[in-house]
Amino acid sequence: MFRSRRLASRLLVFYAITFVALIGLFGYLGDLIARQALRDELSTGLERQAVTLAALLPEDDVAVWVDAAADEGGLRVTVIASDGRVVADSDADAGEMENHADRPEIARALSGEVGRATRNSVSTGFEQVYVAVPVDDGALRVSIPERELIGPLGDLRRRMLAIMGLLGLVGVTAVAFVARRLARPLRGLSETAAAIAAGDLDRAPSGSPITEIDELARSIGAMKNELATRLDAVETERRMLEGLLDALPQGTLLISGADEVVYANPAIGDVLSVVPESLHDVAPYRIQTAVREARLRGAGIRADLEHGRPTRILQTLATPVGEVGQVLVVVEDVTQKRRVESMRSDFVANASHELKTPVASILASLDALRIASQRDPDRAEHFTDLIERSARQLSRMVSDLLDLSRLESTDPVIDSVALHEVIDEEVQRSKAWAGEKDVVMEVDTEVIDIEGNEADLRLAVRNLLDNAIRYTDPGGSVSVTAGSGAGKVVVSVADTGSGIAQRHLDRIFERFYRVDESRDAARRGTGLGLAIVRHVVENHGGTVEVESELGVGSIFRMVL
Ligand code: ADP
Repeated sequence: MFRSRRLASRLLVFYAITFVALIGLFGYLGDLIARQALRDELSTGLERQAVTLAALLPEDDVAVWVDAAADEGGLRVTVIASDGRVVADSDADAGEMENHADRPEIARALSGEVGRATRNSVSTGFEQVYVAVPVDDGALRVSIPERELIGPLGDLRRRMLAIMGLLGLVGVTAVAFVARRLARPLRGLSETAAAIAAGDLDRAPSGSPITEIDELARSIGAMKNELATRLDAVETERRMLEGLLDALPQGTLLISGADEVVYANPAIGDVLSVVPESLHDVAPYRIQTAVREARLRGAGIRADLEHGRPTRILQTLATPVGEVGQVLVVVEDVTQKRRVESMRSDFVANASHELKTPVASILASLDALRIASQRDPDRAEHFTDLIERSARQLSRMVSDLLDLSRLESTDPVIDSVALHEVIDEEVQRSKAWAGEKDVVMEVDTEVIDIEGNEADLRLAVRNLLDNAIRYTDPGGSVSVTAGSGAGKVVVSVADTGSGIAQRHLDRIFERFYRVDESRDAARRGTGLGLAIVRHVVENHGGTVEVESELGVGSIFRMVL
């Protein structure tokens, strides 16, 4: 891992190291060059002095002259014979000095040229600069300790150091300035990026005059926009999904691996009576075990269970989804569905049973008729009647079943109906049968025009009239009234017939429900008449009522 440090300090440290290295290098090279230049100048001056002194070199008393010349010039002066022997020296005893013929500057001077050299002097122990020029019979050499150079060089060094220091200061200031200029927008960008990462998608990175930083800002901006677009898409999808689940009529729960309820749709409250917060709150308990089973098996678990009072049947499906341990629970209240299903299958069974009775009777009568027609033709008539009655019963049954099924499956075509006319016509039609039975028919209707289906209303009125006549004994009466008021139309059919015991009143509108099963076929209805009446009235948005007293009579009212 890198040790993270601010850009500005990193730049400053880098610059300082580079600067110190460069100053060192320049100082060293400058010193070298300056030293060489000074040395050259010094030796040129020395040469001039040597030439001047060579011209002044006396024949005698050389030793005295050498000392004087040295004092005057502030130099060391040496005179050497052509064989290299030292004749005189201003700083040392010539007699004790070794032969100088091998000194490079002397060797050169002895060969007639100017000789130069710089080295540590054996005689003085210091670094010396030597210049030797040829003279008659030998050479004259002047020299000066090199440290004489140090004076001007030191001065030069101090000046150079001052300049470098100044340059360094200017450099540091410039670097600090540039570093700050670079670091400020970068810091801004990093703050913006952090804010975006934390979810603040309203922050936009600001541009920069520095190309690379500006490009970085643009990239962050583009990244933010892309992120916002995707988040929007995800959010829209999430809302749509939630809307879908909210709209589902089935109760839906999403349970996390930690048994928390992550999502619950509104329907779950209706189905379970409470909205649970965790799996442990979910009742009935069987749902909890279904969830655990689904997790264990990694497959959907179906369970039908009974819940609450009155008991409802809940169909539950627990399916593992998405993350490990997450389970989607869908609970549907199928009580009504099951009731309808069972009613339907009951209906089919009842209908088959009801149809079988007249068919069996026809078949039996046919056999009897065959025998009677051979042996006792007088009885044949009786069986023919029986067959006819059963066939009519069968026909009524089939026709009622067809009416019921039509009423259940199609919406009635609505038109304006003159209800009083329909009632009058049906009363007229029934009169023949009523007359046969010695039942008096009375009718009293207002003029009533309503919106409805004429054929269906006619069917309902006919069924009520048929029942009234059927269940009224000779000498009785049936009266029909119809009137309107308070936005309602009431059609009543009252009879003075057998009446219906109180305990049956709730059920007589059910299909195939008969109060007295033992009636003879002639008086026996299909058991579907009142079911048809109720359907018609409900299809017209109305209700049907009954009042009855055993042995006194009944009143049926259609309120539309
Ligand atoms: P059904 O075809 O047997 O008459 P309905 O559905 O029309 O079937 O009537 C159901 C039962 O209600 C009948 O079996 C009968 O016992 C009773 N019921 C209907 N109307 C009357 C009435 N006007 N007087 C007495 N009982 C009646």
